Amino acid sequence: MRAFFIAITVLQFLEAINTASLSAKSKGSLPETLEPEDRAVTRAIEAEIRAKTKRVACSSDEIDSPAARNGIISTKARWEDFYIYIGEEYSDKHRTLINNAAYRLSQVIPCVDFRIWRKGEKPSEDYEGTYLHVMKTGEGCWSYTGKVFEGAQNISLDNGCMSVGTIMHEMIHALGFRHEQCRPDRDDYITIYLQNVIPGKEHNFKKYSYQEVTTYNVTYDTKSLMHYDSYAFSGNEKPTMLTKTGGKIADPEELAPGDITKLKRMYNC
Ligand SMILES: [Zn+2]
Repeated sequence: MRAFFIAITVLQFLEAINTASLSAKSKGSLPETLEPEDRAVTRAIEAEIRAKTKRVACSSDEIDSPAARNGIISTKARWEDFYIYIGEEYSDKHRTLINNAAYRLSQVIPCVDFRIWRKGEKPSEDYEGTYLHVMKTGEGCWSYTGKVFEGAQNISLDNGCMSVGTIMHEMIHALGFRHEQCRPDRDDYITIYLQNVIPGKEHNFKKYSYQEVTTYNVTYDTKSLMHYDSYAFSGNEKPTMLTKTGGKIADPEELAPGDITKLKRMYNC
């Protein structure tokens, strides 16, 4: 009989602990470490999505905030903790791809603390520090450049952005990089055909100065994950960009060796 009462008391105690931790979570909890990526799972989810969803190109430069304009040289725009909150509108498969994109980047710059809020958990309203709020905006795929906000910093990933390559591309903007074709030295490597660009979209081909961006002494690479493809923003189905030798530029899905070097140099790790 005594053993029975002890068991009941232990159960009540455990329940009390459980209730306390749940109420702490409802006020907002801390993010947890990323799940390691299983590449076979990534490939399977991407194949399923590709079969039924049209891909959308990145349109980051269209929403540049003046604050981000010079962000990438400024070390204020760097992240020490890259904490990610995924909006409740995402499916489990989408959540997995977002986790896996972040996981790949975390392997490149291990000195940055990548974490993610688990499903059903979120940052508290008075959460101090910047975190990435991944959301579907209906505006396609975009991100601010570098860390430029306090609290939530939005990043837009609609259904057409759901591949690990595209998600990494947008996260690399958030980490502080602009497009490869915006580099000051780009005219040595590519030719831009503004006459083929959709009128009003020419700003996507702006070239930045060495005062605004740094190349980290990494050679220009048309295979960079941060490079647009040859038909980006084309209004007439003709290429908007070709290599100096007339070659077409493909839409990459993987980090190029130069992307890895630049991320490591920007974050010193
Ligand atoms: Zn982009």
